[in-house]
Amino acid sequence: MANLITYREGVNVPPLQMSNGLTSVFVSVLSLAASALAETDHQRELAVWIASRDQAVYGLGLVGFDLADLPWSKSKFAEDQAFLLRVIEAAKAKVGWEHLDYSPNEAWLFDCLDHFAEMVRAFSVEHALVEEERIWPFGGKPESFRLCTEHHVYLHNMGCVLCNGG
Ligand SMILES: [Zn+2]
Repeated sequence: MANLITYREGVNVPPLQMSNGLTSVFVSVLSLAASALAETDHQRELAVWIASRDQAVYGLGLVGFDLADLPWSKSKFAEDQAFLLRVIEAAKAKVGWEHLDYSPNEAWLFDCLDHFAEMVRAFSVEHALVEEERIWPFGGKPESFRLCTEHHVYLHNMGCVLCNGG
């Protein structure tokens, strides 16, 4: 069982495939980093979207996505792209890792984060989805932003991805 992150419209951008366990680590470290770095509500929205890929709630192997599915801002796409690349760097710098109750396999994880960064760099905003119901399939767009008091991760509609163990 695995999850696939794709960029279907991208030319020569290979998909990122991760085992369910590695996906959980990947989503957790990106959620921690995004929650720590977010300064605007739109950046918090991106943090929630990442955290909502929560396998404990939505099922093992069911949280893969396409780069087009992220809630990109069409008008501030370059800022979103730069934010996500900072988030990936922060994840590699272990920002928030004190809230994990395990030690990730860094070699596997960092390979995946590097691969994801390449995909984010390659992404072109004209491929972003515009229909909100497709961007937010897991319970809709957040209306407010709350941090888990234990993990300092923004909650998605079904709670905290770290508390849930997803
Ligand atoms: Zn939590």
